[in-house]
Amino acid sequence: MIENGGSKPGGSVAVSIVVPVYNEEENIQAFHKELSGVLDGLDCACEIVFVDDGSTDRSPELLRAIAASDPRARVVLFTRNFGQTAAISAAMDNAAGDIIIPMDADLQNDPHDIPKFLEKIREGYDVVSGWRRSRKDPFLTKTLPSRMANWLISAVGGVRLHDYGCSLKAYRRSVIRHVRLYGEMHRFIPLFAHQVGARTTEIEVNHRPRAAGKSKYGLSRIYKVVLDLFVVKFLSAYFTKPIYFFGSLGGLLSAAGVLSGVWTLYDRHLGVFVHKNPKILLAIFLFILGFQFIMMGLIAELLMRTYYESQEKPTYFIREKMNFDA
Ligand code: UDP
Ligand code: MG
Repeated sequence: MIENGGSKPGGSVAVSIVVPVYNEEENIQAFHKELSGVLDGLDCACEIVFVDDGSTDRSPELLRAIAASDPRARVVLFTRNFGQTAAISAAMDNAAGDIIIPMDADLQNDPHDIPKFLEKIREGYDVVSGWRRSRKDPFLTKTLPSRMANWLISAVGGVRLHDYGCSLKAYRRSVIRHVRLYGEMHRFIPLFAHQVGARTTEIEVNHRPRAAGKSKYGLSRIYKVVLDLFVVKFLSAYFTKPIYFFGSLGGLLSAAGVLSGVWTLYDRHLGVFVHKNPKILLAIFLFILGFQFIMMGLIAELLMRTYYESQEKPTYFIREKMNFDA
């Protein structure tokens, strides 16, 4: 288990199921019933943290009723729609368990898979990722783009998973404690966990067609995934050493500028006057650009220090300590 000081208050809860809800009035009660049945059979203390993401249907009232009848259910209501990632973040922030299991409220994920996740966590894994091997979603708008996205994320992120998009996953709190999610980055939690050294595995899960209500996503999420991935990759590769990134780029550009300048001089030797040679413009432009990049790297270094030191964020993670308790 990876630790880094202090654990969440909340005492005895071991497992938190976190559920984002947006306009799921037709699903929410059936979902709660099915999930409760599974949780009753577990031998550990559980809670369900619902976050209503500004639903405009009856979901908030239904959740209120669920909270009144089930002491295991906790409910957070957003003021407006902030998106699935924000809802998952809020649910995680308000969860007390040491094991966090997100899942969708639309009954597409099967609660009966939960024991398999817990078993893997007990085996010592920090992240268990669900894989909807036979996915019950439209091929062209969901399954195919998702295949490509998973390939890309695996290749760029360095963690080979078949299904980043599957909501049903399990995390040990210790590996996601420092994760802050922006945009639509909940898909990338396994990558953030990987950065702190999490042990990750994958299991196949059951997937069902959406029983009622509408999917909230179309094809527009594809380009967001690509942009988010770019950010995640940059943060993971260069966050603690931005000058390496900007500096190398700046160095290359400046060098190209200098070469261009030398070439201009050489041309002068052959009889082409400098003021008639466009390469001089290239030389000046590239050199200034390169210099700017290096300066940007220095500013990024300052920002990075502020980021870590003002929040006392660790730049390393410890799995275990021995002979320290005194
Ligand atoms: N969701 C949310 N906020 C949003 C969009 C979706 O909380 O802005 C929730 C939604 O209620 C569901 C889950 O996120 O529980 C997944 O959404 P959806 O089923 O529409 O995604 P899909 O399965 O089609 O990828
Ligand atoms: Mg769904």
